[in-house]
Amino acid sequence: MNYYSTRDARRANPVTASKAILTGLAPDGGLYVPEQIPALPFGLDELKALDYRETAFRVLKAFLTDYTADELRDCIAGAYDAKFESPETVEFKETEKGIFYLELFHGATIAFKDMALSILPYMLTKAAKKNGFDGEIVILVATSGDTGKAALAGFADVPGTRIIVFYPKGGVSPVQERQMITEAGKNTAVVGVRGNFDDTQTGVKNIFGNKALAAELKENGFAFSSANSINIGRLLPQVVYYVYAYGELLRRGALKLGEPMNVTVPTGNFGNILAAHYAKQMGLPIGKLLCASNDNRVLTDFFASGRYDKKRPFILTTSPSMDILISSNLERLIYEIADESACVDGNADAKAVRCSELMKELKENGEYSLTEAEKARLADFEAGSANQAEVAEEIRRVFRDYAYVIDPHTAVASKVTRDYRTVTGDTTPIVIASTASPFKFPRSVLTALETGEALAESDFDLFAPLKEKCARTLPKAVDRLESLPIRHTTVCEVGEMQDTVMKILKEAKK
Ligand SMILES: *Cc1c(COP(=O)(O)O)cnc(C)c1O
Repeated sequence: MNYYSTRDARRANPVTASKAILTGLAPDGGLYVPEQIPALPFGLDELKALDYRETAFRVLKAFLTDYTADELRDCIAGAYDAKFESPETVEFKETEKGIFYLELFHGATIAFKDMALSILPYMLTKAAKKNGFDGEIVILVATSGDTGKAALAGFADVPGTRIIVFYPKGGVSPVQERQMITEAGKNTAVVGVRGNFDDTQTGVKNIFGNKALAAELKENGFAFSSANSINIGRLLPQVVYYVYAYGELLRRGALKLGEPMNVTVPTGNFGNILAAHYAKQMGLPIGKLLCASNDNRVLTDFFASGRYDKKRPFILTTSPSMDILISSNLERLIYEIADESACVDGNADAKAVRCSELMKELKENGEYSLTEAEKARLADFEAGSANQAEVAEEIRRVFRDYAYVIDPHTAVASKVTRDYRTVTGDTTPIVIASTASPFKFPRSVLTALETGEALAESDFDLFAPLKEKCARTLPKAVDRLESLPIRHTTVCEVGEMQDTVMKILKEAKK
């Protein structure tokens, strides 16, 4: 099966799955999509008997057709091992009847990005070999906090890879910084940049765009790659847990074979919910897909009106990973629903022509509008948003009624789910993607719980009181974090980022 860019109007550049993963962003600026979504390669009746790893194998095999079975099994074994503090990788919590929180946060950095970033390094190194590259892959990441540590944890000590993470010095939380600079992987480097996140991200983009540098590196046996969320290799592993969740609901007797489940996803870049949509297209009985946003409700408005408009203030919220005005992965959905009739050239991929047009409008004017026909193709989606007061109230309510502590991202989804069920009366069992552990956001969570105590100044001192509330053991990710040795101390100016990369790679050669 081939993959094409969402902007490849001639379908001139088919690539294999491994090549798409290796490349990340397509050279024309589009995103790679499979030429068709494969059907589930097994009957639904078999699903009950599949564990997480076997589900992952079957689902990924259907998409990654140029990987051998052995290669995929290697990837899965390397990824979903003891790094996850849950034997089946994910866990479920049913609060009221028919409402299931799908906990995706039992990996190394206690957020759902671990689900994909733990397997991507293995898929990437195998992709490199398949495509004739036998040097070392160098992953460059600019992070505003969370992605950096998840990528470090995923790539740490994976043979054939090296990872360099840049973060704005002073621009991430103390806990996030400490998680990164204590990273022990021998192939890792973490660098603070004297600048803000935008400077840092631009710096990394410039390094990626420097052709002379790429050539020099290649001579030395290195090649750059990215672990960005637009990489199809990050999207596909996320399809797995929706399929697995259906099996779990069958096992629990919450569903009979073939009955639909609904899904709610707290959304930022639109990757996670798109994965659920792909699961549905594979034939998994999913009814509604609820897209939940925080105060940055660009997607809520988009699904209501058919108009995407990023021209609005950027609001900093208690769910920072959803503070996004340009949801990059939405492009894959736009491609899928694009109106072919708008294109007059019979030889072209009309969807790609239309998709490129809309993305150009977004870039130039900050907005675009769908046709009525296109809008009608979004009928599977429902969208809603929750503001910060509602999020805090939801955290409080769920704790009060079920003694269950959820993080602010999950709370956005939880509130949107409740509103949807109240308004529609739809009692279909529903799976809420629970994307972060409350231990990742101890201050917001404890503040929402209104315990009446003054909160300690340092976030490090909030883990203990939160642990009381959660009645859980402290996750490895934060346990004794404060006393781990600091291993990365490099700080550089924005203008020195490229030299810093070269220096790190020269060191690595020795
Ligand atoms: C990244 C992230 C999200 C948003 O996921 P998308 O795939 O970007 O929509 C939601 N919650 C948490 C905790 C995240 O880290």
